[in-house]
Parts: sequence; structure tokens; C-alpha cells
Amino acid sequence: MTDNFDYDLLVIGSGPGGYVAAIRAAQLGLKTACVESRETLGGTCLNVGCIPSKAMLHASEIYHEAHSGALEKFGIKLTGTKLDLKQMHAEKSKAVEELTGGIAFLFKKNKVDWIKGHAAFESANSVKVGKKTVTAKNIMIATGSSVTPLPGVDIDNSKHVIVDSTGALDLPKVPGHMVVIGGGVIGLELGSVWLRLGAKVTVVEYLDKILPGMDGDIRKDAARIFKKQGFDIKTSTKVTGASVKGKKATLTIEPAKGGDAETLEADVVLVAIGRKPNTEGLALDKAGLSTNDRGQIEVGHDFQTSVPGVYAIGDVTPGPMLAHKAEDEGIAAAEFVAGQQGIVNHDLIPGVVYTHPEIASIGKTEEEVKEAGIKYKVGKFPFMGNSRAKTNRDTDGYVKVIADAESDRVLGAHIISSLAGTLIAQVTQAMEFGTTSEDIAYTCHAHPTHSEAVKEAAMAVQGKPIHI
Ligand SMILES: Cc1cc2nc3c(=O)[nH]c(=O)nc-3n(C[C@H](O)[C@H](O)[C@H](O)COP(=O)(O)OP(=O)(O)OC[C@H]3O[C@@H](n4cnc5c(N)ncnc54)[C@H](O)[C@@H]3O)c2cc1C
Repeated sequence: MTDNFDYDLLVIGSGPGGYVAAIRAAQLGLKTACVESRETLGGTCLNVGCIPSKAMLHASEIYHEAHSGALEKFGIKLTGTKLDLKQMHAEKSKAVEELTGGIAFLFKKNKVDWIKGHAAFESANSVKVGKKTVTAKNIMIATGSSVTPLPGVDIDNSKHVIVDSTGALDLPKVPGHMVVIGGGVIGLELGSVWLRLGAKVTVVEYLDKILPGMDGDIRKDAARIFKKQGFDIKTSTKVTGASVKGKKATLTIEPAKGGDAETLEADVVLVAIGRKPNTEGLALDKAGLSTNDRGQIEVGHDFQTSVPGVYAIGDVTPGPMLAHKAEDEGIAAAEFVAGQQGIVNHDLIPGVVYTHPEIASIGKTEEEVKEAGIKYKVGKFPFMGNSRAKTNRDTDGYVKVIADAESDRVLGAHIISSLAGTLIAQVTQAMEFGTTSEDIAYTCHAHPTHSEAVKEAAMAVQGKPIHI
């Protein structure tokens, strides 16, 4: 298909959106290249996002279990447990290296050319990378996102005092007091890491509840569980400024709706108020493109922008900033480029918070269903009634299923549980096939598993759970 171009498809950015799109396009016979400005492939997700954060969450959870005496009730007595933070970071880096190296291998295997450098458009069919011009019949923008700065709070990861998520993944020592600005997913995950390793952690959130966008019950109950773990959570509070003296920061905070200001001292401040699409330095105008008022690149159902042959996927486009959303869009967009039909159901993108317990969500929240004027029923089942959770002495949380009162079709499910991220997959798949709560209730679930709580929550929609 190349005609007079260097490539059929040139992908800009090798995050989970871009690298997956490039591999799928190559599998479909397109001559494909991927430009990446970072030293390694894998984007935010593999280098400074999903993977290193999960490595630190896993390691810190094991440490906390071993160190806090939580294992003694199982007859496991440990003495002299010590934290070797350097080794913890080294193991995280090893996981990142293996996974980013894995993509380089997959590129070779699928004959995707990896072009190193920063790409900027010269026209809708060409980009400049360093001194070289690369032309392509189709170009896909998968440049992802980066941290949203907070005016008055200057991030400098090298000083380890006011940091963003990348800095918080690499702190050389456990802070005495960490203040997390933003009670969203990233703030709570990284706050959990350092809380487990021994820091006092204060979360400052502008809204009246943490975890914006999630189901109201879940937001309330998650806050209760996190407070029990030792998090200090200050909601309806805004940060208005920060100063750094030596190794300490002083933050000025005040009630979100106005009132007296106070100060908070911290050893480390993590700014985690959100992420913004990466379009700076892309010279979008040279391709005839512009962004919307949120800085995102708008696309049609086929991921094509307003300029034919230029596609965009992942965090740089509207929708949740999640790796699996970017990946699925990458596959679908590559299929469209190859003349096939790609499919992504944007109504069913699961969201998971990898704290302990995990929090997972699919479909509509109760607030969204109410606002849409839909008559609905709710079934809830607590893990206190689940035999496996009880056996594991791990009963925090519940499953909440929301179903249409007339058709019984499942509209949403929200789970707090140590295995929530895994459990949400079965409801997502069932919803993809248009499931009713009765379908889930009459599906045989293995015993004893946490998944039985999903079945019981579905039974609770009809008011008939067994174990509660
Ligand atoms: C701490 C943290 C934890 C996270 N945890 C999770 C999680 O557990 N699960 C989840 O689903 N999501 C998670 N995310 C979000 C996830 O990382 C993003 O949604 C995902 O990486 C988006 O993928 P993408 O392909 O759109 O872009 P990115 O992964 O951001 O990749 C874009 C790539 O494009 C490159 N690039 C940008 N501009 C250019 C240019 N002009 N030329 C060449 N290259 C360029 C960048 O260097 C980057 O490597 C997390 C994010 C963070 C920060």
C-alpha cells in the first residue's frame, strides 16, 4: 500500500496505544514504523506509570504484611524484618526493563521499525524526526499525556521534595510526612505505597469526596477504609501555594469554598491532580489539526481526526486516561487503517484503583443512572458474607450491582475487594453480551471464591441472596 511513502502507517508514541497499534498494523500487512522520543518503548504506562506503580504497590504490600504483625494471626512470626528501599527500587526497575525490552522484541518480530526521536508534523503525510523527514500514507498520533501542573506548586523531581508521580515512584527514602495533592487514583495508589513503608500520609482533595467519577457509595466507603488504614484525608480543601526550604515544604491550604488559610509541613509533596494530553511540539497546525478546549484531539468513530489519513488514540483523545482504553483503540484504529472494521465499546471501559482493597468499576454509577431518570434496582453483597474472604481474614468491601428495574439488564457494577480488579472482568464481559442480573445469579461460580460475591450481589438485585 505504500505508494510513494516511506510507510503505510507511522505511529507517533509507543505507549500502550501506539505500540499495540503498530504491532496490529504490521500483523495486517502494513509497512509500519513507530517514533518514540523516550529512550525506551512502552510510554508512560511501562516506564513511569502502571508498571512501576504496581511493582511498588506489590512490594510495599508484602513489606507491610511482614512488618506490621498482620501475619501473626496465621501463625507466622517474623522478627527483624527490614526495608531495603534500594533493592525494592531495583526490582521495580528490572520489571520495567524486562517489559520495555519485550516491546522492542515484539517490534522486531513483527517488523515494525522503531524510529528514535521527537516527531513534529511537516504536513498531513510527513513528520520531521531530528534532521530526517519520514513520510507515511497514514499517521497515528498516540502521544499520550503528562502531569498537570498546579500553579504555585513547582515540581522538581530531582530535589525529592515537591514531586509528580514519576518522582514519587523513585524517592530515595521514606518521607516522614507526605502530602498528596489530589485524592484520585494515582494519589491514592502512590500514597498507599509510602503509607505502607512507614510515612504519615495526608491527602488533600478539592472536592467533597475522594475518587471523583466513581460511584458515590464506593467513594464514601473507600474513604472510611483508607482512614482506618491511617490516611489523613482532607476533603473540600484547596492548596493555594507552596514553598520549599531545604528538605521541607510548607503548603498553604484553605477550605475549597473560602475561609481561613492554614499551613501544612511536609517532607514530600506529591502533585497528583490529573494529566493533560501531549500535543506541544507536535506542530499539529502543519497537518491542519487543532485541539478542543481541553487540549485533546477529537476523532470520529474510526479514530480518524478531521484530516483524512491522520488518526489519534489513547490519552491524547477524549475519554478515560487508561492503558487498556489506549490499547483497544490502538487495535481498532489499526484495523480501520487496514480497511477493516475496528470496535471499542466506550461504555464498557473498566476502571481499577490498585490500593488495598482494590476498587473496580464498570458501566454506570448509581448517580449517573438516577440522573438519566432510569428506574433501577441495586443488589449489594458484603465480603463479610463470602466464605473465601472470611477464610482469608480479608473481608473489607462489597459488590454492588445496578440493574434496570424493568429489563433487569445490568447497567453497572462497583466492587471494593482485594480482588476487585480481577472480579470486574467477569461483569464487564457479561455486560458486553447484554447480561441481566438474573443471568449472573444463575451462572455457576466456583466455591470458595471471591467471585461468589458477584453472584450473590446479582441475586440481591431480586432481594434473594443466600449468605446474608
Ligand atoms: C503513576 C501512574 C500510574 C498509572 N497506572 C495505571 C494503571 O494501573 N492502569 C491504567 O490503565 N492506566 C494507568 N495509568 C495511565 C496510563 O499510563 C495511560 O493511560 C497510558 O499510558 C496512555 O497510553 P498512551 O499510549 O495514550 O500514551 P503514553 O503511555 O503516555 O505514551 C505516549 C508516548 O509518546 C511519546 N511521545 C509524545 N510525544 C511525542 C513526539 N512528538 N514524538 C515522539 N514520541 C512522543 C512519549 O514519550 C510517550 O512515551 C497510570 C499513569 C500514571 C502516571
